[in-house]
This record gives sequence, structure tokens and C-alpha cells, in this order.
Amino acid sequence: VGAFALTGCSSERGGTPASSGAAAKGFAADAKIGVALPDKTSENWVLAGKLFTDGLSAAGFKPDVQYAPASNTVAEQQNQISAMVTSGAKVIIIGAKDGKQLSTQVKAAHDAGATVIAYDRLIENTDALGYYVAFDNFKVGQLQGQALLDGLAKRAGHPAPYNIELFSGSADDANSAVFFKGAMDVLDPKIKDGTLKVVSGQTEITQTATDGWKAENAQRRMDALLTANYSSATLDGVLSPNDTLARAIITSVQQAGKTVPVVTGQDSEVESVKSIMEGVQYSTINKDTTLLVAQAIKMTQELQKGSTVDVNDTKSYNNGVKVVPSFLLAPVIVTKENAEQAYANVPALLEIVKSYKK
Ligand code: BGC
Repeated sequence: VGAFALTGCSSERGGTPASSGAAAKGFAADAKIGVALPDKTSENWVLAGKLFTDGLSAAGFKPDVQYAPASNTVAEQQNQISAMVTSGAKVIIIGAKDGKQLSTQVKAAHDAGATVIAYDRLIENTDALGYYVAFDNFKVGQLQGQALLDGLAKRAGHPAPYNIELFSGSADDANSAVFFKGAMDVLDPKIKDGTLKVVSGQTEITQTATDGWKAENAQRRMDALLTANYSSATLDGVLSPNDTLARAIITSVQQAGKTVPVVTGQDSEVESVKSIMEGVQYSTINKDTTLLVAQAIKMTQELQKGSTVDVNDTKSYNNGVKVVPSFLLAPVIVTKENAEQAYANVPALLEIVKSYKK
């Protein structure tokens, strides 16, 4: 099993820590650092902006943090990155809106001597990308798939087979395919052996995608699935790729007057953590944004000093033209049972969890 490209994936994860051979030159300790984030489709993006501004300033840099606005996002993000290049940013950290449409800007940055770090989402089809820093997206998907199976065994109230539906994220985000592949790595054998039944028959990513990661699109698709397939059948579980979509799916089911199925999630958004503690949403994933931002800032400091950039994966993320040296952090599954432990280092969420235990 080799590296996985945009659509592929590897079951051979982890491996020995590696270091990138990319030559870094070093630059002024108070250099400008650009951070281009997508529109605010989940709480993690909102938090990342603040953490980058504070953390880069504290490290002595001049941060320039920009969000692409909700409309015209791709073009605006392209313009923002071009402006960062023109203004002399030495590192540009990008959370891509559309990872397939930034190769021109990434090349311009590289040609101007800046290093580009893809943050959370891979940037595709460019050899000018320096590094990738993210939570292990394939693992996120596997954890979601396993949580769905575990939740069904605990909550469905009957033995298998279980009726389920599948949702995936936005097609313009490279993560969406990786999350889905990770989940299907766990679920597909169970669909094949009859444990799980996707009643609608919609198992292809082209059928399950949620444009723009927008809640209203997931809710609309769930409404349609219920109408077409569940007038008499019971829906036992739904694979949801993140919390925003999980809550939309739950709203759809509740509005249809049906029992809430086992629904997965991701991001540990406040409303979903509450829902989990109330026994409604089944699971989420803890991808601590503080740690991911800190890792990107650490890379920036290594680049500033001209020292070796620490990476721990040099085979998983092929962006179409090269395998991008990556630093992958480990995601953690969260259910009501382990929430207290899982958020031990996330004070705001820990407080919420504890408030339900009183
Ligand atoms: C991130 C997820 C997030 C989604 C929507 C993905 O690229 O990895 O954490 O839920 O975008 O914002």
C-alpha cells in the first residue's frame, strides 16, 4: 500500500518520524506571516484565527490573518494570498477554501521566497507547497465509522441488521474524501456482510456530499432521504462527517417526528458536546485547534531559524504532483462515556461536560 493521493488512502499509517530535506534559509525574527483561512464553516476555523493572531504575535512575528468571506470565497482567498505575497510574507499558512484552485498563488509565493504551509486542508496539484499540518484525516474517518458501529450496538435497541445513511463533506475540500474513505474502511465490510443496510442505496461520495459543508444542504438531503425511504422503515444510524452537519441531520429527523438515530460528528463544537451529554448526538471528534495552530507556529519558527522542519509523515499525502511532508496530529473520539477524559486539556469543554455530571 503506497501513499494516498487526493482520492486514495493508505492503511499503512504512522511509521517512523521523518524529517524533510527541504532547505530552509531562515529570515528575520519579526517577519510578516500570512494566514489565509476559509469561511467560518465550523467553530474550529473561528478559533484558529484568534489563536494565530495571538500566537504569532507572541512569537515575535507580524501576523496578517484573513478570512475568505462567505460569498465569492475562492476568488477572495486567491486575492488575499496574492496580497500576502506582494507584502513580503515569509510564511503563508493556508486553510484552503478550495484546495484545487490555489496552485497559481502557491507558486507565486514560492517564487517570491515564501514557504507555504497547508493548514488542516491539503492544497492540490502544486509542487510549490512546502508542508502540510493537520489531524490525521483518514484516522478521523475510521474513528467515525467505528463510533457508528459501537453506537448502533448500544443504542439501536435491536440486533443487526441496522438501517443507516451516509453523509460526506464538501467536494471542494480534499479532507472530505479522506474522511469518507476512512469511515468506509470500517463500514464497507459491514455493509457487504449485511450488518448494515444503506436503505437509500447512496454509498458513493458523489451522492453523499454536502456542498460547502452547509447545514441547510445536509438538512435538505436528510429530509429527502426520510421521505423517500423511511415512511415505514426505521433509521438506526447516520454517518455525519462533522458536528454542524450532525445537528442539521438530527433537526431533520426530529422535525419528521422520528426517533433520533445514532449520529456521528467531528470538531467538538459546543452545541454538539451539549447534545452528546444530553444523549442525543452520539459522538464527535476532538481535534484540539490549540494544538494544530501551535504546530503550525512551531513550523514557522523552524523556518525562521533555518533549522530542519519537524515532520512525522512523508508518505500519506500525495497532492497529485508530490508527497507533501506532513505533521499529523492524532484525533480522539468522544462519546458521553469518555468525554471527561477526552477534554481533560480543553478547559471550556471540560466545564460543560462536568456541568452535566452534577
Ligand atoms: C475540517 C473539519 C471541518 C470541516 C468544515 C474540514 O476541512 O477538517 O474539521 O468540520 O472542514 O469546516
